[in-house]
Amino acid sequence: MSDSLAARSWVAPANDPACGFPLDSLPWCVFCAADGHAHIGVGIGDSILDLHACAASGLLDGLSNELLAACRAEQLNPLMTLGHEGWRALRHHLRELLAEPTNAAAETRARRAESLLAPQQNAHFVLPATIGDYTDFYASAHHARRVGSLFRPQNPLLPNYRTIPLGYHGRASSIVLSGTPVRRPRGQRKGEDDAPLFAPTHALDYEAEIGFFLGAGNALGEPIPIFEAEDHIFGLCVLNDWSARDIQSWEYQPLGPFLAKNFATSISPWIVPLDALANYRVAGPERAPDDPAPLKYLHSPSASTDGIDLHLTVTLCSAKMRVAGMASLPVSHGNLCSLFWTLRQMVTHHVSNGCNLRPGDLLATGTISGPKPGSEGCLLEMQATRGALTLPTGEERRFLEDGDEVAISATAERPGQPRIALGSCAGIILPAHP
Ligand code: MN
Repeated sequence: MSDSLAARSWVAPANDPACGFPLDSLPWCVFCAADGHAHIGVGIGDSILDLHACAASGLLDGLSNELLAACRAEQLNPLMTLGHEGWRALRHHLRELLAEPTNAAAETRARRAESLLAPQQNAHFVLPATIGDYTDFYASAHHARRVGSLFRPQNPLLPNYRTIPLGYHGRASSIVLSGTPVRRPRGQRKGEDDAPLFAPTHALDYEAEIGFFLGAGNALGEPIPIFEAEDHIFGLCVLNDWSARDIQSWEYQPLGPFLAKNFATSISPWIVPLDALANYRVAGPERAPDDPAPLKYLHSPSASTDGIDLHLTVTLCSAKMRVAGMASLPVSHGNLCSLFWTLRQMVTHHVSNGCNLRPGDLLATGTISGPKPGSEGCLLEMQATRGALTLPTGEERRFLEDGDEVAISATAERPGQPRIALGSCAGIILPAHP
């Protein structure tokens, strides 16, 4: 499917199979350029190619005026609006620009582009898009079952779970970029004598998820058939849906998550296109014999390639560990292919009633958990299966303490294929306001 093994870039670090930013990937980002403005870029090797500067210096000549204008924008929304044909045309052009030159003209272009590279290290990234709406799904049956068993031991998975890709409308205004500290929220929760009080949460948690940005959307009232759904996905990022479990358990009935989750959601700076993950597609989720078949509108014609083999790692580092110079502790590992519902099914279901998605909207999978201990995507599940976490300092964690840093990273890797990094989504907990 891909000529990745033969494709080499003149950006030498990109050719190291372990690098994570090979010529095949070219993830999008928005970063603060030397002139102080936000510029669109793509990751290659250890660098960012500045697309605004490329457009300004004629290196993107030959592309449509719409694409050139989108490359000069300060956010990715105009590019998202142009749809998958536009993104693919731009990626094809960038791939040729960044590939090892095979003639004198290409050599000249490569030399000019080399001066438009910025180092990834110490880059100041900014939110890649204006996010109009944010929706969080609940696509991991392992997560749903484990959390459900805490609240309803007799009936952990509700009957609708296996026929509806469940989700809720989240809050876009509090989505922040990786590295932004997260203030411990105050909220209404039950105190020790079950009397409600308003106080800082005592049960702050993370949720390891993959976010996916919508490109071209759909008109209000016009659903997207499942076979077209992936054409609308601009790319994937890593996402942390910070959650206050004590606030959540008090407020969630009957309308679902509200202030327990909308105080912050963190995302990684890179958006990796689905095309970059073409070599990591795997079969969609296997349904158990007693699972109902998906209803027709959710029945995918490409189930054999609807999954993505994408590995997630969560690490934790307490303030004490940082002071002692200790490395972050890996606390869990998950995989995107363990979900019950696919990205395609989530997009199709979301718009099946005619709800319109718009360029820059962000959807997320929900907590990605696997079946085994060690694959829990949040602390709530972890303490149910493994008890409190012991850190190398001897500290114990049931939930997050002030000063804790959570970092979630995702990567696709397989022998013989260059590694594709989605990067890291990190955040440190600040104390609640007094
Ligand atoms: Mn979530």
